[in-house]
Amino acid sequence: MPELPEVETTRRGLAPHLEGRRIREVTLRRPDLRWPIPPEIARDLPGQRIAEVRRRAKYLLMDVDGGSALLHLGMSGSLRVLPVDTPVRAHDHVDIAVEGPRGQARVLRFNDPRRFGCLLWQPAGEVHPLLQGLGPEPLSDAFDGDYLFELSRGRKAPVKTFLMDQGVVVGVGNIYAAESLFLAGISPLRAAGKVSRERYVALADAVKRILGYAITRGGTTLRDFISPDGAPGYFEQELSAYGRGGEPCPRCRRPMKEASIGQRTTVWCGHCQK
Ligand code: ZN
Repeated sequence: MPELPEVETTRRGLAPHLEGRRIREVTLRRPDLRWPIPPEIARDLPGQRIAEVRRRAKYLLMDVDGGSALLHLGMSGSLRVLPVDTPVRAHDHVDIAVEGPRGQARVLRFNDPRRFGCLLWQPAGEVHPLLQGLGPEPLSDAFDGDYLFELSRGRKAPVKTFLMDQGVVVGVGNIYAAESLFLAGISPLRAAGKVSRERYVALADAVKRILGYAITRGGTTLRDFISPDGAPGYFEQELSAYGRGGEPCPRCRRPMKEASIGQRTTVWCGHCQK
C-alpha cells in the first residue's frame, strides 16, 4: 500500500506537470472506484486552471476554483503523467487531460487494479469527511515530543498502536512506526502513557528523520507502485526492523523479536528497545 512518503513523492513528481495548467477534459471509464465518482469531477473540472497539488495525510488534493479533486491511491493505485495519445491499458480508470507547454497536452492517468482508491470532490471552504478528525502532519511543527507526551497521558494502548492512530498523527504506517521506535530505542509494547517526555522527543525526531529520508529516496519499493518518473524507491533495503524478525539486530546482533501488536506484525530488539 502506498505510504505517506510514496504519496509525497507522487505529489512532488506531479506538481510541475499540473500546477498552473488548464484542464481540457476529464474521462471516466467507470462511474466508481472505491466510491462513486461525484458529478462535479466531470462537470466542473474542464476549463479550470489547477492552482496547486497538495497532500493531506495520504490524500492528494488538486485545487481549482470552487474546490478540490481529492485522490487516494488505495492499495494499488498509481498516477502517471503521459502524452495524451498514450494507449489505455487495463485498469486505467480515469484520465484528466491538461494543456501542456507549447500546446502539448498531457494526461494525468489513474490506474488502480484493485479499486480501493478514490476520486472525490471537496467544495471550497469545506473539509471532506474523510479528512476530518485527522492528527497533524508528521513533518509539520505541530508534531513534536511535547505534543505526543501530552496526548498520551493515561493511555494504556501500546506506543506503536498510539503512533499509528491517524487521530494522533497521520501517515505513520506499520513500516515507519517500527523503524521510528527502533531508532528511538523504545519498545513497541510499552504503554503509550508510560513513555517519558524525553523519549517522546526522541520518537518524534525519529519519525521526522525516517519519513524525511524515505521521501528523499522516493519511498519504499512497492509491488504495485510506480513513481511518476517510473523509478522504484530504494528505501526497503535500508530498513532496520521491519521485515527482519529473527535476524540479528543491526545494533547489538541479538535476534530481533517478532509479534503481532494491534493485528500488525511488529519486529523489535528486546535488548536495544525498552
Ligand atoms: Zn539490539
